[in-house]
Amino acid sequence: MFDFLTQKFSSLFAGLSGKKHLDAATIQSTIDQVKEALLAADVPYDLVQTFAATITEHMAQYKPVASLKVSEQLFEIIYEKMVAFLGGENKPFSVSGVPAIIMVVGLQGSGKTTTLGKLAYYLRTLSEQKKLNYRILVASVDYYRPAAIDQLGIVAQKAKVDFYKAASADPIVAARHIQEYAATHKYNLLLLDTAGRLHIDNTMLSELRTIDNNLQPAHKILVLDAMTGQESLAVARAFDQGVGFHGAILSKADSDARGGAAFSFRYALKKPIFFVGTGERVEDLAPFHPERAASRMLGMGDMQSLVERANEKIKQEEQQSLYNSWEKGEFTLNDFAQQMDMVNRLGSLTSVMKYIPGMGGMNISADALQKGQEEMNRFKAIMQSMTHKERVYPRILNDSRKRRIAKGAGVPVAEIDKLLSRFVNMQQYAKLIKKSGGLRNVFK
Ligand code: GDP
Ligand code: MG
Repeated sequence: MFDFLTQKFSSLFAGLSGKKHLDAATIQSTIDQVKEALLAADVPYDLVQTFAATITEHMAQYKPVASLKVSEQLFEIIYEKMVAFLGGENKPFSVSGVPAIIMVVGLQGSGKTTTLGKLAYYLRTLSEQKKLNYRILVASVDYYRPAAIDQLGIVAQKAKVDFYKAASADPIVAARHIQEYAATHKYNLLLLDTAGRLHIDNTMLSELRTIDNNLQPAHKILVLDAMTGQESLAVARAFDQGVGFHGAILSKADSDARGGAAFSFRYALKKPIFFVGTGERVEDLAPFHPERAASRMLGMGDMQSLVERANEKIKQEEQQSLYNSWEKGEFTLNDFAQQMDMVNRLGSLTSVMKYIPGMGGMNISADALQKGQEEMNRFKAIMQSMTHKERVYPRILNDSRKRRIAKGAGVPVAEIDKLLSRFVNMQQYAKLIKKSGGLRNVFK
């Protein structure tokens, strides 16, 4: 979602790299470029002006720091303003106490049902990790779209939480039945999915209001489609006036949304973004952190998120051994195999690259990354056909060994040579990374 802004800001800071003095003209052109980037990302004009004004104000008082480069000084200021704009120290979403009802609202197609499943999955996992004893039930009062309720049933299965379908087809009656069912069956967390229309409509809002009054959910969450840009703010305001809500989840952040909604939401609505949806699976929900979002937008890479994902998915010792091999600036084919495995578990090469500082703005084409990924997959097959000794001492690979391996991996022999030369490149890359110390923070 932030790729668009990342590229804009990366080129802005790259353009400042030769500058020696922080003069008025440099400041003005930077502010102009910031405005341009935000407008292009579909941030409303008045918000762009407000944001730019905070930078202008700051610069009026600013005393240049001689030890810092011009780009570094401006970066720091813009970063700080951006974090504040996005919500400063956002508290992560947590359930205020059980029993509780969480109700999601939003337009049809915004991603409510999918998001409810993700939230159920998130809370179930959290409860297991922290022994919170959540007993989660999901249910829906969406009687407008055929099969909407059964869709939630399927999502609930994926999230491994219980699902209940009320007999009544009247949303207000059904909501009551669901609440009673949850209470008599000792569920202490009810996640309620609701209906949305394609556009805001007063009947829908008044129905939601009645359900809200009857059930008194502790948490009301608006699901907003990040793809809708500026328009989403109008939707959010209408829901805020119609039923009210405590915070939002921005869905479809994995799409090519330009990030305008994420940038504007908190400031425009004075409410937090709790999570962003990053895909269609139940696992694809990520807590929203203003600092991390700002560093992503500015092209710093989101080290913290990568560290978290890495910690979640990679065993400690594996991390240590990889860290060591990168640190040494050299690694073996075995390390390479392990590394590929790790990249695969983290997602794709593409998704890992985004998190590495400086890579965000490199504008590597999706096509090139895709090719890289395919190459890695082939290399993996080849490695699996090698003996341990061959992996440790690739120089013993003579023609007959190569033929044997090629046969085992189902690739032509030439492919092995090609991939061995890629491996040499990788080793050089490791040396380069060692020199820049770039990965140091990732695997610590
Ligand atoms: P609802 O009408 O508000 O309940 O919306 P749904 O949950 O049915 O979602 C509408 C469509 O958006 C579905 O095709 C979902 O798979 C898709 N969707 C929802 N959230 C995400 C997301 O975070 N990323 C992507 N790529 N698709 C999503
Ligand atoms: Mg739905």
